[in-house]
Amino acid sequence: MDATDALTTLFAACLVAAVGLMMAAWLWGPASLAGWRRARVRRQPFPQAWREVLRQRMPAFARLPADVQLQLKKHAQVLIAEKPFIGCAGLAITEEMRVLVAVQAALLLLNRSAGYFINLRQVLIYPGAFVVARQTADADGLSHDTRRALAGESWQQGQVLLSWLDVLQGAADPQDGHNVVLHEFAHQLDQEAGAANGAPWQVGRAHRARWAHVMNTEFQRLRESLARGEPGLFDGYAASEPAEFFAVATEVFFERPSELARLHAELYGELQNFYRADPRQWLQSSPMLNAPGVAFGADSESTPFGAKRSRSAV
Ligand SMILES: [Zn+2]
Repeated sequence: MDATDALTTLFAACLVAAVGLMMAAWLWGPASLAGWRRARVRRQPFPQAWREVLRQRMPAFARLPADVQLQLKKHAQVLIAEKPFIGCAGLAITEEMRVLVAVQAALLLLNRSAGYFINLRQVLIYPGAFVVARQTADADGLSHDTRRALAGESWQQGQVLLSWLDVLQGAADPQDGHNVVLHEFAHQLDQEAGAANGAPWQVGRAHRARWAHVMNTEFQRLRESLARGEPGLFDGYAASEPAEFFAVATEVFFERPSELARLHAELYGELQNFYRADPRQWLQSSPMLNAPGVAFGADSESTPFGAKRSRSAV
């Protein structure tokens, strides 16, 4: 091989290496950059003012195990750094709002490394229940304008809409089985791979069949028991469609775990695998939180702030 051939070979090798590096940077660069940024955010101390928000507005936080508290704080810091919060209907966004939404939403991210609600682009907060107008078709195909007051909503395009009054109520009462933040962010997880259908992609291929079997069985059971007028852990909204069943089951899983495990063991097991957490264990040092809950239909329809509790529609 003469000098010219050697130079040509060297040039070709450099070109291949450069193209390889550029492809690697294109493929993994954004992810590693995001990972580096998140690590930097997580290293920051959790501000004292934010601790005060949790102390005042989310008393159950202090009763969580220390490792769960730490994860929630770190995840919340990342969510607050990455997701824009937008006030609606004249509401000015405060640190209190960001912290309370982010910490509650972070319950859905425990013990997993993949993503921070990867489709979520904005969190929109209204002062209270907000009215949405929709066109719906009746059985004869005629369309009607319907107006509903909602506590929250989740859009596949990457928006979560929340009523601040309902966010406050959800954080203040950790055992009533209702939490609008958990509900809407569960929809976000469900919407990461298409329209919400109660089967988030994070379930994983290996567990998908079992998940579908358990969820379908429980969904049908709920519909039948509601038709018979039997009391239960779930409200009627959970029986409206599979996506709502998953979102409501998420609320019950985190807020009334002992009852859910006792009455719906298989469903609890699936949610425990999915959320990589066992909220029953969080209650052991807090007998008050483990008390039997009210029967179906017996809980209040109104919040302490006077806004009528309503469910989201996705
Ligand atoms: Zn919903």
